[in-house]
Amino acid sequence: MPDASQSLPRQLDVVIVGGGLAGLYAIHRLRKLGLRVRAYEAGSGVGGTWFWNRYPGARCDVESLEYSYSFDEQLQQDWKWPERYGTQPEILKYINHVADRFDLRRDVQLNTRIESAVFDGKANEWVVRTDGGEEIHARYCVMAAGNLSTPRVPDFKGLKDFKGKWYHSGLWPHEGVDFSGLRVGVIGTGSSGVQMIPIIAQQARHLTVFQRTANFSLPARNTPMPEEKERRHKAEYPARRAAAMETPFAIGGHPKPTSSALAVDKVERDAAYEAKWQEGGSISYLYAYTDLLVNKESNDTAAEFVRNKIRATVKDPKTAELLAPKDHPIGTKRLCLDTNYYETYNRPNVALVDVRSDPIDSITATGLQLGSGTAFELDAIVFATGFDAMTGALNEIDVRTSDGAVLRDHWMGGPLTYLGLMVAGFPNMFIVTGPGSPGVKTQMIASIEQHVDWIADAIEHLGKHQLDRIEPTPGAETDWVHHVNQVADSTLYPLANSWYMGANIPGKPRVFMPYVGGFDRYKKHCDAVAAQGYRGFTLSRHETVAA
Ligand code: NAP
Repeated sequence: MPDASQSLPRQLDVVIVGGGLAGLYAIHRLRKLGLRVRAYEAGSGVGGTWFWNRYPGARCDVESLEYSYSFDEQLQQDWKWPERYGTQPEILKYINHVADRFDLRRDVQLNTRIESAVFDGKANEWVVRTDGGEEIHARYCVMAAGNLSTPRVPDFKGLKDFKGKWYHSGLWPHEGVDFSGLRVGVIGTGSSGVQMIPIIAQQARHLTVFQRTANFSLPARNTPMPEEKERRHKAEYPARRAAAMETPFAIGGHPKPTSSALAVDKVERDAAYEAKWQEGGSISYLYAYTDLLVNKESNDTAAEFVRNKIRATVKDPKTAELLAPKDHPIGTKRLCLDTNYYETYNRPNVALVDVRSDPIDSITATGLQLGSGTAFELDAIVFATGFDAMTGALNEIDVRTSDGAVLRDHWMGGPLTYLGLMVAGFPNMFIVTGPGSPGVKTQMIASIEQHVDWIADAIEHLGKHQLDRIEPTPGAETDWVHHVNQVADSTLYPLANSWYMGANIPGKPRVFMPYVGGFDRYKKHCDAVAAQGYRGFTLSRHETVAA
């Protein structure tokens, strides 16, 4: 990778934090406005999530024809996705292709972590410092640092004494890991664990899975990309993208459900679930009926169908029962997609250990020990234990203003944003797919494009009107947070201890963070806010010190 730091202009119009899908699109979009932009990326390559998460089996759970940029028709026509769901290497290859194709690399500075961002009210600019001691001044700051980008290893005592090797799914060694002949322990059964467990099981001498919460997982039914499907999709790409924008998940191709799960009898319902199960994919399943995410009784029918599939697949009844989730409605934690996940527990070299009833006490020199004293000898431990989601990346940066506002303090009781895009008291700082945005509940790239377009339009609007500062009013922020919570409370989502709630991090405030009112509603709302002269924002002009 070329080191672009030599050509770094210290004075920018927009400083972008992150060189993943969001940061790259922000460069492209904001450059078109004639702005001087530059993204700072901690990794040694672009790609964000897809750069870091290289664990075995890492693959997107949104279909590849959907999970891609829509901003350039020729790009979407040219790129060939080899499989129904993109693998991590394939998606990373795509992102690198985009970086080259649109000449984005010259404005990405790799191997650079942003340590602080301070808004200087007098100069009306952000002063951003890197871990290399560089200082960047910019009128606007775009935080494109990701939602699931702060890997979290639980604070188990003894980890430093472990004589084997340990890994986190989100910090996977680039050279890969060979588990052949090893006794491996995987801790965590979220999307990452569910994807890697079947692959590690094939390699390892023995695999022990330490499960705290059983998760619902559906078969992905991955296949090589059928040529005819690709041809049809590409023939209608713009229309399909437009249709996806009109859906809650920003994912097209799934007819909207029309009836409640309780409006039909069990035979008809189970036939519908079976069809969805055979089709593969999570949106498809949750779209079986209108009320699966809002009515517990309806949800129970969909959940029980999957539990019965697990019972039918896993031969040992005790293991099957442990794998069958009973403590949260289906879909309220991220629904996993897998290839042979439940089947893997039928292998003689795989064991499941319930660490809800007997939690992990410590890591030892030779393995792992539970509270009861039961010990496991392990050569390698994999933490598929998730991330400090949604707020972790921003809270790692010292974000403050010359007026004394500190983002970590502002968010002490849970993140506060207006539209998930901006924070009161932090002018000219935009967040891409932050808390309060629907990002993580959607096809993420669609949300990224929508957010970045909205941000670019706002910056353009300011310029056209000789304005140079935008910030949400505290009232608008309060109202939005209230709305986000109200919408969440009208669904079943808050019934799960999920990372959406910050529940996976001890001590993190329990606040439901994503907006679950749907991408379609959200986009219309953002468009209306802009059309009404940026309702809820204060737009102003500030003479800079230099001026
Ligand atoms: P996750 O969903 O947060 O799962 C973490 C797992 O680790 C959970 O099973 C959790 O149990 C367990 N865990 C955490 N601390 C533990 C402890 N102290 N003891 C025992 N178990 C512990 O993390 P993830 O699997 O990395 O996925 C995060 C998100 O990334 C997903 O929800 C998804 O949005 C995204 N993702 C997507 C894909 C895909 O597209 N296919 C793949 C991977 C990730 P509890 O549930 O009890 O907390």
